[in-house]
Amino acid sequence: MKHKVIIIGSGPAGLTAAIYSARANLKPLVFEGSQPGGQLTITTDVENYPGFPNGIMGPEMMDDFRKQAQKFGAECLFQTVDKVDLTKQPFTVWANKEKYFSDTIIISTGASAKLLGLESEKKLMGNGVSACATCDGFFFKDKKVVVVGGGDSAMEEATFLTKFASEVVIIHRREEFRASKIMLQRAMENSKISIKYNTIVKDILGTEKNGVEFIEIENVLTNGISQLKCDGVFMAIGHTPNTKLFNGKLNLDSKGYIITKPGSSYTNIEGVFACGDVQDSIYKQAVTAAGSGCMAAIDAERWLET
Ligand code: NAP
Repeated sequence: MKHKVIIIGSGPAGLTAAIYSARANLKPLVFEGSQPGGQLTITTDVENYPGFPNGIMGPEMMDDFRKQAQKFGAECLFQTVDKVDLTKQPFTVWANKEKYFSDTIIISTGASAKLLGLESEKKLMGNGVSACATCDGFFFKDKKVVVVGGGDSAMEEATFLTKFASEVVIIHRREEFRASKIMLQRAMENSKISIKYNTIVKDILGTEKNGVEFIEIENVLTNGISQLKCDGVFMAIGHTPNTKLFNGKLNLDSKGYIITKPGSSYTNIEGVFACGDVQDSIYKQAVTAAGSGCMAAIDAERWLET
């Protein structure tokens, strides 16, 4: 059976595209991927999505997005796409050993947390090293933890971790912060949080059995190396777009983001559209992702009509 619209990815962008294309009677098929609901499902309070003056929990919001899409006829599959063929119409999508065909594809695969690239980080991931405070913070009750990064994510994770940890140290590689003033101030005013400036993590020491014991850090101004005792290390150093599936198949920029034609969701292939964080290295907000999901659904609908 051939679909009119297949949507790959289920964050605010993908599910908004699903709401709009379902309401246009296009019966979209959504592949939810390995993290159904996307990055908001691993966050707590969303305080800046318009319409929720008291905030809303990320997972709850994404459940509501999905329900709204399904109400209008979107079909959501909790499967991950393994391969796509965008060279001929209809496009082919492989998932769970099945083949699916579609006239249009909307890509909303989002972005994933970046890591430092240390061997020890890989070895201790899940055993003291984490990229998600919301998921793993609970395991660090009355412990000392480190958060790496100087953006909003680092401030948010550090503040959240103070609910559990006895002490949180933010390690940032320079003196200026990318974080917004309000989030930086909230972290700085928290008595459990301290900040180490001009510092990088050189190594993480510990064992899979006992978890993290200490980290080796370097002051980049003095090149002085020291050790910092801690029980956990949370990476909050940004994200990379999830575009492995489209490498060599679509035009990507130097950082791997899908290139869309300005002011639209059009990619370089007719009938393939992209929305959300997978094509946005600048704004990366739930509300901008949702807006671009709406654009992709409208672009796909108009493209199908012509
Ligand atoms: P980001 O703004 O790109 O910040 C990444 C931080 O990590 C920067 O401070 C960067 O340092 C540091 N970093 C990057 N690579 C590093 C490395 N290899 N070693 C050490 N440090 C490294 O990413 P983000 O904090 O994830 O935020 C992304 C977007 O989401 C932003 O637009 C942000 O506003 C938004 N966001 C919003 C909220 C909220 O409003 N509730 C929460 C989280 C995120 P440099 O500054 O030196 O480059």
